Amino acid sequence: MDLHFTPEQEQFRRELRAWLDANLERSWTEETRDPNHDADSLVELRRVWQRKLNAARYIGMGWSEEWGGRGASEVEEAILQEELTRADAPQVPNFLGISLLGPALIHHGTEEQRRRFIPKMLNCEEIWCQGFSEPSSGSDLASLRTRAEPDGDDFRITGQKVWTTFGPWADWIFVLARTDMDDRYGGISFFLVPIDQDGVEMRPIRQITGESEFGEVFFDGALAKREHLVGELGEGWRIAMTVLGYERGAATLAKPAEYDVQLDGLVAGLRASGKLDRPDVREQLGRLVIENEVMRSNGLRTLAQLASGHAPGPESSIEKIFWSEYAQRLSDSALDLLGPEAQLATRAQKTGSDVDWAYQYLWSRAGTIYSGSSEIQRNIIAKRVLRMPTA
Ligand SMILES: Cc1cc2nc3c(=O)[nH]c(=O)nc-3n(C[C@H](O)[C@H](O)[C@H](O)COP(=O)(O)OP(=O)(O)OC[C@H]3O[C@@H](n4cnc5c(N)ncnc54)[C@H](O)[C@@H]3O)c2cc1C
Repeated sequence: MDLHFTPEQEQFRRELRAWLDANLERSWTEETRDPNHDADSLVELRRVWQRKLNAARYIGMGWSEEWGGRGASEVEEAILQEELTRADAPQVPNFLGISLLGPALIHHGTEEQRRRFIPKMLNCEEIWCQGFSEPSSGSDLASLRTRAEPDGDDFRITGQKVWTTFGPWADWIFVLARTDMDDRYGGISFFLVPIDQDGVEMRPIRQITGESEFGEVFFDGALAKREHLVGELGEGWRIAMTVLGYERGAATLAKPAEYDVQLDGLVAGLRASGKLDRPDVREQLGRLVIENEVMRSNGLRTLAQLASGHAPGPESSIEKIFWSEYAQRLSDSALDLLGPEAQLATRAQKTGSDVDWAYQYLWSRAGTIYSGSSEIQRNIIAKRVLRMPTA
């Protein structure tokens, strides 16, 4: 297995770094600490950033040229995410559209749907959110109850979705809804629904970080046009599952790069507080650094598999558990080692560590829940990697 990058991939990285040097004026950390910004202006800034990336053809890079991409490999996608993280660039607002809906339309949509939605998605003229989870259907998604009933040629949607990331700013939502109440998997269909209409109410949810990036969505006879049904009736589950499988390699290098930045911040904070030379502190720090290197090596192995044409299977659950639980160990350790000041240093730094540890601590709680909770990932490993007997 070759864990090295090819000369072409190294060249791609150099070009990308030069582009980021020339185009990223201020880091995301600087922007979020600017008191002139509020939640809306930060979203606008992210929209402008997505447009810049799109103009340079860094958005949807893995798609074919016909759909605005460059046909880039998963290794190049992973390099892109790694460099964006390292440069502390803003996250693009349409990440759910780009990572989930775009591939769904390219593989399962009609020509009209692609032409209508993909350019505006790439350019962030329309922001998308994902309407899958419901109050009683998260891990067990196929138990969802939101229904879509025929109304002439079209459909009327009734039900509730929750934990809808970016919902408060979204223009459209892609929804899994039941078109047959009795067929667990085959009764689910995939709809594209405009949010600005009677029959859709989006309520922001306040998170423990103080932000309201989520919403809950109430549908009361909302209109979904027939031409906005993706695939056939009853194909929604299959489309959703294949689409969720597309996000395979992109985060493999970005996570260790993100933790590199945090580890550097932790070292700076410990140096400033005079604790860096304590043997117990160095031991804890050493363990965190080694774990991050293990994660990076594992990510490179995943990429090498992808590059040789082997899609990672259920083993990717091991990676998901590792990075999400590591984020919690890292912020727990930072708060413990840096002391009470780190908990108070929200946005304005008092510890000498250029990381907002209180925010990281709170946000890291989410990682072990979204994209499949740690318990669900362990079930997958038990059943499909270790082939343990099931009850
Ligand atoms: C930051 C964040 C962003 C999100 N964004 C979106 C979004 O944009 N769109 C969207 O549709 N959803 C989104 N979600 C929802 C997410 O997909 C669900 O939270 C997740 O699937 C878990 O479902 P749940 O919250 O209903 O918990 P539940 O499924 O009710 O689980 C509760 C607890 O029980 C455990 N559990 C459940 N089933 C089993 C089992 N079989 N064996 C062992 N333990 C089990 C779980 O691990 C968990 O600890 C987001 C969630 C978060 C945290």
